Amino acid sequence: ELDATQLKKWMELFSKKITANEKYLCELDAPIGDSDHGFNMKRGMDAVVTKLNSAPDELTICLKTIAMALISTVGGASGPLYGTAFLEMAKESQKSNNIVDLLEAALAGIKKRGGATIGDKTMVDVWSVVIEAIKEDALTTEKIEAAVLATKDMIAKKGRASYLGERSINHIDPGSQSSGYLFESLLEVIN
Ligand code: ADP
Ligand code: MG
Ligand code: MG
Repeated sequence: ELDATQLKKWMELFSKKITANEKYLCELDAPIGDSDHGFNMKRGMDAVVTKLNSAPDELTICLKTIAMALISTVGGASGPLYGTAFLEMAKESQKSNNIVDLLEAALAGIKKRGGATIGDKTMVDVWSVVIEAIKEDALTTEKIEAAVLATKDMIAKKGRASYLGERSINHIDPGSQSSGYLFESLLEVIN
C-alpha cells in the first residue's frame, strides 16, 4: 500500500537521483538519441518537487499533480510517457492504493500510449521486470540494475533509437536507466 507521504518521499529521492545523474542520462542518450534525456528529466522532476511541496497529503491529488508537472515540463518522448504513467496511477488510486495495482495501471498506460512491448529497448523493459519482482516480493537493487543493463543488447524498436536499427545495440536505453532510478527510489521508500 502506498500513501501520500511515501509518494512524496519517493519523488524527492527520485529527483535527487535525476539531479545527480543528469549528465550521465544525457550521455546515454547521445549515441542513440539526441542527448537530452537527463536535461528533460531534471527539468520535470524539479517541477514535480516544487508542485508536491504545496500539494495536500492525498494520494490521488499528489499522483495527478506529478502527472501534470511531468506532462507540461519534461517534453520529448519520455514526458508524455512518464506523465501517462502517473495519470493512470492517479485513476487507479481511486480504486486501490496497492503498489502492484498502481504500477500495472501505469505500465498499461505507457504501453498503450507508446505502443512498445517487452524487448523493444524502452522503459517498458524495466517497468515489466520490476512489477513482476514486486509481485513476488523479490525486488532488489541488483534486479533493477540488471534489467537496465539488459537493454544494452536489444535492438530499439520504438522512439528515436529505433532510427538506428542494429546500430542501437551496445548502448543502454536512457529511459530504462531513468526508470531504474525511479524504482531504486521506490525500493528505499517501501523497505
Ligand atoms: P526524446 O527521444 O524525444 O528526446 P527522451 O530522450 O527524453 O525523449 O526519452 C527517450 C526515452 O523514452 C527512451 O530511452 C525510451 O526509454 C523512452 N521511449 C521512447 N519512445 C518510447 C515508446 N514508444 N514507448 C516507451 N518508451 C519510449
Ligand atoms: Mg532524447
Ligand atoms: Mg529530445
